[in-house]
Amino acid sequence: MSTIKVAILGSTGSVGTQTLDVIRSDPDRYEVVGLACGSDADGLLKQADEFNVRTVCVGIHNAATPPEPNGITLLRGPEGMCEVAAGTGADIVVVATVGDAGFAPTVAAVEDGKSVALASKEMLVMGGSLITELAKSSGANILPVDSEHNALWQCLRGESPSEVSRLILTASGGPFRETPAERLESMTPEDALKHPTWNMGAKITIDSATLMNKGLEVIEAHWLFDIPYESIDVLIHPESIVHSMVEFVDGSIKAQLGSPDMRLPIAYALSYPERRPSGARHVDLASLSNLHFSAPDHGRFPLLNTAIEAGRRGGNAPAVLCGADDAALKLFLAGKITFPVIADLVIETLQEVEHEELHDLEAVPGFHRAGFETAMSLAAIRSE
Ligand code: MG
Repeated sequence: MSTIKVAILGSTGSVGTQTLDVIRSDPDRYEVVGLACGSDADGLLKQADEFNVRTVCVGIHNAATPPEPNGITLLRGPEGMCEVAAGTGADIVVVATVGDAGFAPTVAAVEDGKSVALASKEMLVMGGSLITELAKSSGANILPVDSEHNALWQCLRGESPSEVSRLILTASGGPFRETPAERLESMTPEDALKHPTWNMGAKITIDSATLMNKGLEVIEAHWLFDIPYESIDVLIHPESIVHSMVEFVDGSIKAQLGSPDMRLPIAYALSYPERRPSGARHVDLASLSNLHFSAPDHGRFPLLNTAIEAGRRGGNAPAVLCGADDAALKLFLAGKITFPVIADLVIETLQEVEHEELHDLEAVPGFHRAGFETAMSLAAIRSE
């Protein structure tokens, strides 16, 4: 059994620390060769010490960094992130960054033909057409860590693409699944951050509350599995035990079940094509009295369709969508706008920013910025 060399981008975040949990519980299998974080330099250096990592990077240029300990190369900024991704000899690069910070290093890893375990959905959402093309030509494998896509990947294993009729992405429905429309306006960031089943970072938790997250996941699934948008459905499943399903032409449905614990999809992606213990609690089916499924409520959660529509439109629309959403979340978390205004701002921004085709991955951050800035100025006009 050979050791798998792993680099982790976003190592101090939720998925990053859980990736290190998986590695900690299976230490003979993995060697950590590179770590990168956004701004938590102290946390990063602690991880480097524990896992004996020589090359680390603090992604945010002006973040305060302690003096670098002996024997450790502490890089800074996006160039340093690219170095961690492609210059540390990693067999597999885990991308678990927030927002668009992981974009350039993901491109570097894909260009280099590496296996990329993708937890951050933004890359495929914003640049899916070009990234999948790039992966085809470099031979890079994109391995989904997002629990739903990991589930779809497991269900599709050994199946013929021509026999798939539908992908069914499950969604917990988030903390406001049963909140009446008229009460959504008074929901605070604290309410939105209380996710019923998953323990995740702030951005993805609020994106789950608006169902934006599920819309982004539909786009992500479209690019990962080359399935047309009209053959991807979303189903609300509050227990988060069935992580997604695939329906085949004969009417059979395959589902992947497991406890809502990111260590399971992380371990599957890291050890693929093997299966290894993940540390996740095993599901006791006899103790589950009920599993529920229902259609999503598009009236209360308009961002689900807004996101899917932006995916279908393609070009700059998904990047503008992500930029606008980042701005709206920032304003919501700061108490400057109410929950329903998140959707209003994103929808207005998509109408405002002119459509452009996407010919070059380097244009993506600019489109993202345009979405962010347009949403910010629309919010400023609203508050006048
Ligand atoms: Mg997910």
